Amino acid sequence: MNETTAVNVKGEEAEKSKPKSKQRLPRGRVTLFPNWCKGCELCVTFCPTQVLAQGPNARVIVAHPEKCTACRWCELHCPDFAIFVTDIESEKSDEVEESKEKTQ
Ligand code: SF4
Ligand code: SF4
Repeated sequence: MNETTAVNVKGEEAEKSKPKSKQRLPRGRVTLFPNWCKGCELCVTFCPTQVLAQGPNARVIVAHPEKCTACRWCELHCPDFAIFVTDIESEKSDEVEESKEKTQ
């Protein structure tokens, strides 16, 4: 066993450590309805990864979509239902299902 091999609780060799990619992949897709947004900034203040920012006309913009972790804090706390989040993984699996249906 070399230095990069990890051992789990059962004593089995785990996957060898690999260098982690520095680029963060989005896990959620944020959709905002600007006409419903009153600019209260609740979502901007509490988004843990600073995806959202105050935009022009006192409305929120999705400034860093690549940082979304799909925690849904913004969606659950927006008082005006102006924002929602979809899981990118489930979108991909839906696309796979659709393509399977088309090939049958
Ligand atoms: S919480 Fe809702 S209404 Fe408030 S700024 Fe965010 S999207 Fe707009
Ligand atoms: S789902 Fe979470 S990470 Fe994504 S924009 Fe909303 S609060 Fe931020």
